Amino acid sequence: MTLDPECIFCKIIEGQIPAEIIYRNENVVAFNDLNPQAPTHILIIPTLHAENAAAISAISPTIIAAMHRAADAIAAERGLTGYRSVFNTGADAGQSVFHAHLHLIGGRGLAWPPG
Ligand code: 5GP
Ligand code: ZN
Repeated sequence: MTLDPECIFCKIIEGQIPAEIIYRNENVVAFNDLNPQAPTHILIIPTLHAENAAAISAISPTIIAAMHRAADAIAAERGLTGYRSVFNTGADAGQSVFHAHLHLIGGRGLAWPPG
């Protein structure tokens, strides 16, 4: 299935629900997170529906690479000197939306380890 009509991120791709779109190309869409955890908190998603990063990797390593390239390009455009890129995979890791997404987080000091 390319898109899932029940999925909120598929609806953002299709423009059925609004989002602050930062960037898009044939493989990815990037938009501001609704509940930002840092001055920059952007979600980068594939333009096809798959539930997590592992599933996308199995379908297309090209798309996983495109997600990381988009994150790096956006960070560079914003002059971020460092950033965190996160995939939460599975509810136990905090995943709440089951359309793969890369969190691009930056613009403040980031502690390690994360909570
Ligand atoms: P997860 O917890 O699955 O790793 O991350 C899901 C992220 O999606 C959360 O950071 C949450 O704030 C964000 N989010 C959930 N629903 C929406 C939405 O409708 N629009 C936007 N822009 N972000 C959303
Ligand atoms: Zn989806």
